Amino acid sequence: MATEEERKFLQFAKTGDFDELKNLLSVVDVNHKGEEGMTALMYAAYKGSVNSVELLLHNGADPNIDSTKDKYTPLMFATLSGSTDTVRTLLQAGAKPDAVNTIKRTAAQLGAFVGRHDCVSVINNFVQTDQIKYYTKTHGFEKTAKLDDKLAENVHKMVVIPNLNPVKLVLYIQDHIELIPASKEVLYVLETEVEKSFKDVNEVLSIKLHIFSHVFKKCVAWETGKEGKQGIKGLLKFLLKGRPADGFLLNIEFLLRDSMRSFPYAQSNLFKQIIKSLSSTELGKPPSAITILTQSINGMQSADFSECCTCCGDRHCFNKCSACKMVRYCNAACQKLHWSSHKPFCADLKVKYEELQRIQKLEKEQEEKAKLEKERLEMEKEKSQIEELETEKENETKNFEQLEINGDGNES
Ligand SMILES: [Zn+2]
Ligand SMILES: [Zn+2]
Repeated sequence: MATEEERKFLQFAKTGDFDELKNLLSVVDVNHKGEEGMTALMYAAYKGSVNSVELLLHNGADPNIDSTKDKYTPLMFATLSGSTDTVRTLLQAGAKPDAVNTIKRTAAQLGAFVGRHDCVSVINNFVQTDQIKYYTKTHGFEKTAKLDDKLAENVHKMVVIPNLNPVKLVLYIQDHIELIPASKEVLYVLETEVEKSFKDVNEVLSIKLHIFSHVFKKCVAWETGKEGKQGIKGLLKFLLKGRPADGFLLNIEFLLRDSMRSFPYAQSNLFKQIIKSLSSTELGKPPSAITILTQSINGMQSADFSECCTCCGDRHCFNKCSACKMVRYCNAACQKLHWSSHKPFCADLKVKYEELQRIQKLEKEQEEKAKLEKERLEMEKEKSQIEELETEKENETKNFEQLEINGDGNES
């Protein structure tokens, strides 16, 4: 039997009242299911209240309990809410992404169905912390662990990057340069995970991690002087060198296509599909390898780069090049890196932007004019209707007068 506090507790989770929820934590069973067969964590997840979700998890809420009626997990509710932070928080707390509801759908499948593509991509790209921590311990006859404990956290952060643009990964490795001297260990983890994911029928993750391992190898080759000049910095310059004619980043295209050539599981259906798309696209023409791979791995919607950083491909960037306003960047560092390939086109893009603005202004003016004209015509119509009514009325009065006259006549 539910206590009054438990009823209130679920209600506060539903309305997202963080403080009230917190106050009741000590007097309720955090995993209590209400009349609808749902826990507070499910309600908070469905609301997308990441703070409440964190609070509940921290206080022992089970991320893998499902709803009584249709076996929905908190992760499914979070995915439906569209809150990527809530989804990530639940995954980090150990929520199982492969749990299915009564209609045999996982959270990612439900998310794809309702268009929550950002959440789907977070789920598909997620590697549990424990999966990487596993390599920091010895197993069986091993004398030493495969990965240094100190590196585990940064390797984990690397593998959960959802963005497939190699520049993003190279920038991450530049910021965590201690991964380079440990390249043997890091590559062992990456390549083992590629194999494991493939065997677990997670082709998406397998292909993604293979791309990461390929790009990581490039970073090692440049940083150790086996390829190119100036180490990782030189690699970034190399990748961001635009084709003279149109600024197209051919070296990124080559790198990604190369990475696909070395994918070890040619029998993978997703891989076959990617290869088919890549080989039917002329090199240097759209869609680029980044677009094809992002569509295949993170879903169609994710390949809309209109709000992405032109340099590293991170999503939801709002800082525009102040001159042309046609390209976006995360920050000044990304803009600086991309400048040499953007510079030759900035002035032309500015002209394009101004032309676009002019067309938009004109369209707006025309719309305004059409609206005014429509209003005028409606007014005219109304006026003529009134006039008609008035004439009718006048005629009626006349008829009536006539009648009266006639009536008078009759009377006399
Ligand atoms: Zn960026
Ligand atoms: Zn510009």
